[in-house]
Amino acid sequence: PSVPDLEALQHTDVAQLLPVPAAESDKYRRGVVGVVAGSARYPGAAVLAVAGALRGGAGAVRYVGPAADAVIARFPEALVHGWPPSRAGRVQAWVVGPGLGDGPGVQEVLDTDVPVLVDADGLRGLDPDAVRARKAPTLLTPHAGEAAALLGVDRGEVEGARLGTVRALAAKYGATVLLKGSTTLVAGPDERTPVRVNPTGTSWLATAGSGDVLSGLAGSLLAAGLAPLDAASVAAYLHGLAARLASHDAPVAAHDVATAIPRAWRDAR
Ligand code: AMP
Ligand code: MG
Repeated sequence: PSVPDLEALQHTDVAQLLPVPAAESDKYRRGVVGVVAGSARYPGAAVLAVAGALRGGAGAVRYVGPAADAVIARFPEALVHGWPPSRAGRVQAWVVGPGLGDGPGVQEVLDTDVPVLVDADGLRGLDPDAVRARKAPTLLTPHAGEAAALLGVDRGEVEGARLGTVRALAAKYGATVLLKGSTTLVAGPDERTPVRVNPTGTSWLATAGSGDVLSGLAGSLLAAGLAPLDAASVAAYLHGLAARLASHDAPVAAHDVATAIPRAWRDAR
């Protein structure tokens, strides 16, 4: 068995990976993100995921789900589409799960042939075979509780062995996994690749909705064409930096983190 190794994500790596639009670029080449999120009970999760995707540099965001009115009220630049996601038109990466509740969407999105990020409610009962069968990459972004449920272990076991957990999940699903928490870890499906540790996190991020912002942000980087390991680790880096810039060692709300993403982006260049 290989000994899992770790690699701290460096500022210089992030700077090189940030997708700057070429002079002749257009919104499609910058990347279109599809978002399937939100429910009558949790419309805000959809708004925050869309916020993360737009501030993360998506050329356009297409939203499919029951929170279209809330999304449009906050982000008139979002495009809204009726069910199912396959009718939304061109999308370069999907984000599915934040605030979704029991709503449909996960399998429909997994059936597409573009990169997919699964978060939050989308992770509930997620079938490893359905993920392994995909030809395009899949990125899972659980927190410790979600990771424990996916592995059928106690949350305490995850907290006591975060490196083993992120590796085990990546192996079980054949996917890239970003394990959220006090230190965010990112593992790819190839166990010879080091696990990346994000150095920018701050405990001010422990606030409702901050994970939804991260999922949209990572989705925008997937849509821009970054490999899943890079998209996930750059998203975690920018997310932590945005929280620090918005917070200045004081409380911060998730939407403030989303608003600060462009400033974090500038600082990371
Ligand atoms: P979620 O649990 O989905 O709302 O996501 C919470 C977000 O906040 C993730 O990006 C976590 O990595 C981050 N986070 C939560 N608690 C902490 C902590 N104690 N220190 C640093 N980041 C945290
Ligand atoms: Mg969450």
